[in-house]
Formats: sequence, C-alpha cells, structure tokens
Amino acid sequence: MSDAVPHAEVEIDLNAIRDNVAQLCDRAGDAQVMAVVKGDAYGHGLVRAARAARAGGATWLGTAVLAEALALRAAGDRGRLMAWLYAPGERFADALAEEIDLSASAPWTVDAIADAARETGRTARLHLKIDTGLGRSGAAEARWPELVDAALKAQAEGLVNVVGLWSHFAVADEPEHPANLAQLETYHSAVAMAESRGVAPEVRHLANSAATLMLPQAHFDLVRTGLSIYGLSPSPQAAPAHEIGLRPAMSVRARLALVKRVPAGQGISYGHLHVTDRETNLALVPMGYADGIPRHGSGGAGGPGAPLLVGDTIRRVTGRVCMDQLVVDIGDDDLRAGDEVVLFGDPARGEPSAQDWADACGTISYEIVTRMAPRLPRTYL
Ligand code: PLP
Repeated sequence: MSDAVPHAEVEIDLNAIRDNVAQLCDRAGDAQVMAVVKGDAYGHGLVRAARAARAGGATWLGTAVLAEALALRAAGDRGRLMAWLYAPGERFADALAEEIDLSASAPWTVDAIADAARETGRTARLHLKIDTGLGRSGAAEARWPELVDAALKAQAEGLVNVVGLWSHFAVADEPEHPANLAQLETYHSAVAMAESRGVAPEVRHLANSAATLMLPQAHFDLVRTGLSIYGLSPSPQAAPAHEIGLRPAMSVRARLALVKRVPAGQGISYGHLHVTDRETNLALVPMGYADGIPRHGSGGAGGPGAPLLVGDTIRRVTGRVCMDQLVVDIGDDDLRAGDEVVLFGDPARGEPSAQDWADACGTISYEIVTRMAPRLPRTYL
C-alpha cells in the first residue's frame, strides 16, 4: 500500500453510525432496531457499518441479498440477521447453517426453504411477507391464506418456525399520505388473519426510517432503519438530519488536480454546456462518473450543477461531469492543485449534503451514497 495522499476518497465516520443508531433506538421506544445494511451498508462498507450499528444498539441487521448476510457471518457477526430477497435456486442451506432469518412472499419460497431445512436437519426462522400496498414483494391479499397455510404446514413438520410477519411502506416519507394509514390497517388485518390460523409471531415489523421517525403507531416489535442510521433524513417532512439528532456518516473529498486561468468565452468540458462570461479560474476535480458522481450533476444547459465546498465557498459543477474528472469555476479564488474540495458531507461543517446532490441530480440521497464507486479509497474514522 502506498501512503500517498489519495486524490479522492470516501470518508466514513463510524461513530456517527453508532450514535445515529443509539438515537433511533431511543425513538423506537419498546421496539427493537434492525440496522438495514444492504447495498454495502448504503455504500458505507458492510462489515464496518454493521459493527458500528451493533455498538449503537441494533439488535438486528438486515440485508436484501443472502450474499451480504453470509459475508456478515463470515466477518464474525453472530446476532439476529435477516436477508429477504432471493431467486429460485438460492442456496438456503447455507443461510440455515449460518442461522440467518429468511422471508417468504410465496409458497414456492416456503417449500424451497423447507427442503433446505429437511436436507440440513435444521429449522428455518421464517418471516412471512405481506404486501399491504407497496405493490412490490409480499403476498397479495388474495394469497395471504395460501402463504400462511404453506408456512404452517412446514412448521408442523418442524422445518420452519414462523417468527415474523412483515411488510414495507410505499410513502412513509409523506406521513400525511392516506396510503400510510391504509397500509397500517391492512397490516393489522393480515396479522389478525395469520394469528387466527395459528401463527404466533415473535416480531411484527413494518417501519422503515421515515415511519420510525414519523409514524410511531407503525413501530410494532421491530423497526427496520436504513437511511437514517447513515445520518440522512428520509424525508423533507422529517426535518433536516441534524435537527433530528442525526449526523451524516459519509463525506466525499478530493484534491484539486489543476487550477488554471481562462479567458471569457472559454467553453467548459464536453459539449460546452457552459461558456465563461469573464476571465476566471477553473479548478479540476479528479472525480467523475466512474467514481459514482452522477452525470446529472453537470452544470450548464440543464441546471446549475451540483454543489461542492471549494475553499470556504460553495461552488457548483461547471459543464459536464466526465468519466474521471469535473470542472468548477472558482472565480478569482486563489486555490492550488492539492487543495481539498468536499463534494458532500456534513452541512454542520458547511459542506453540501448528499440530499443537496440528490436535489441537483434529480434523485434521492439513497442513490447518491450507495453509488460511490469501489475504486474510491475508503477512510474510516
Ligand atoms: N426494509 C426494507 C424491506 C427495505 O427494502 C428498506 C430499504 O429500502 C428498509 C427497510 C430501510 O428503508 P430506509 O432506508 O428508508 O430506512
């Protein structure tokens, strides 16, 4: 490993993740907290983020794909851990050997998990997923009894233990949206239906970050918090992250590769989306879309460009974001190659937020943090 200063890096503050989880545990009241660490912990580094979340009080971890849950076990995590998204042919036997909680939205999954349990002599811990209105995974209402009955049959054979009944919100980021109460009611009906057939779940769970913060009636026994544990607010209506006691864990920084003076009339970057209207200094930031910087953050014809903290001034991406580099018009600021710029980080330090980038790029902060490329070195604080 070289000890050269990286030209660009992602810095992750693990104490922020730990403290955010502790804060969310307080908000969750009697409910337990699952730290959702799918997608490489939303780009923050699966294993390290998971350890920080456990240190903050998360009694559960959650991933979508099984490979990430298995990686957590391989790294030594032995706590409650759930993975919920599979395709036919999935190696459920590996999941059972590692005591990973599983989910089923359809009888085929129950059968495949039961087969793996028979093969390995283990009992699967199973959560039945109910579609209460998201229209994504989960059993549609007409199919609830079929799913529950398939699970109860496997339970009677000692192959599965139905430990959870769960669902997911569609618009919890808009707490006043009528779909939230409708989903909540539907969830109550699903629980009542399952219990009337003999299911006695250990954990009922429905809430994501937004519902954890804004819909306490949806906490049930366990909340599944993702975005908020990384210090980002799941909704404009949940207030900015720092107002709800959350601190962004990720910041993305780079060192200027070049600063040069150009005349008025200089077209900037591919397509000349921007042309200088005066003599000015241009700063070259050695990061581009191969690093995960969205090309939609370009400045020029379509919009003002995503923000960066350059020196002590917020500037904007000028012209097109390229594969490995982008340009910022810094006016008459006197900066040098090697000076630091912050693309996004903690607004409490005057840095743009991941949400600012999301707004500039027409996306959500989830996508901004998750897409930072593996080639960027990670520094953990
Ligand atoms: N639960 C499930 C099933 C999810 O897919 C996600 C993430 O999208 C979460 C919980 C966490 O959501 P959030 O990051 O909004 O807290």
